[in-house]
Amino acid sequence: MVRIEVDPDSGFCFGVVYAIAQAEFFLDQGIKVYCLGDIVHNDKEVERLKNKGLEIIDHNTFKHLKNAIVLIRAHGEPPETYQIAKENDITLIDASCPIVLKLQNRIREVVRQAPPGSQIVIYGKPGHPEVIGLMGQIPDDSQVEKILITGEEDALKKIDFSRPIYLFSQTTKSIRSYYALGELIREEAAKRNNTNVYFNDTICRQVSNRDVKIKDFARRFDVVLFVAGKKSSNGRVLFETAKSVNPNTFFISSVNEIDLKWLENAESVGICGATSTPSWLMQQVKDFLERELNVHPV
Ligand code: SF4
Repeated sequence: MVRIEVDPDSGFCFGVVYAIAQAEFFLDQGIKVYCLGDIVHNDKEVERLKNKGLEIIDHNTFKHLKNAIVLIRAHGEPPETYQIAKENDITLIDASCPIVLKLQNRIREVVRQAPPGSQIVIYGKPGHPEVIGLMGQIPDDSQVEKILITGEEDALKKIDFSRPIYLFSQTTKSIRSYYALGELIREEAAKRNNTNVYFNDTICRQVSNRDVKIKDFARRFDVVLFVAGKKSSNGRVLFETAKSVNPNTFFISSVNEIDLKWLENAESVGICGATSTPSWLMQQVKDFLERELNVHPV
């Protein structure tokens, strides 16, 4: 009989749990709540909350909204959003993750204290809401330059290695690639006798600790089904991590994407996911497999 297990360490991080709990607290009382952007990078969970009355809006709609209640999700927002809320009599339910808020504060501190001509370099995904929130902490007219980089090649092109560099990362990037990037930047600066490179480890441990755990989990199965939304950054990182130890790891966003051919000859199947993957979705995958493979749960 095929052994099927859901990873007990996969599923929402506390930032996402808090944001969803906040939304449900108001929705359950029949209060209209708008959410600025998808509350979590998982379409299935977004759909569940929409059915409870949550309305997802984009920043353009937000600008024209008045006298409403709007939830800020765990990714956080730039100062401009708070300003618009004030002007439009919007009540914010601020569910920004405390880890993201701390990172935003550290960036603001550097803006205040760094000597003119310094560069604040953020390693992150362009257009990612957290990154927009982080970049927004650096005013355009500030004396420091803001630079967004996506990796080593980009760093070599965009950074002036002879000037002070303050390096930060989006919280959900891979810790390995961030440390490697930090090393490269230090080396390039050292070639120009620049020792003013300030590396800030801003990777969220809710994600990086899962790195190790997910490897241990993925090794234990013939086939691994990794469940996450396609827009989830940490989903992509954790999927690659699981795949690096178990090549029979497949990325799915829902039960419909499962190809039963993947499971031919498998004696064990592990189901895991990202910090944005709801437990109920992983359980749905397990129930589906048990039905299809004729496995009777014990
Ligand atoms: S991944 Fe970390 S930083 Fe991001 S919301 Fe979750 S706990 Fe917060």
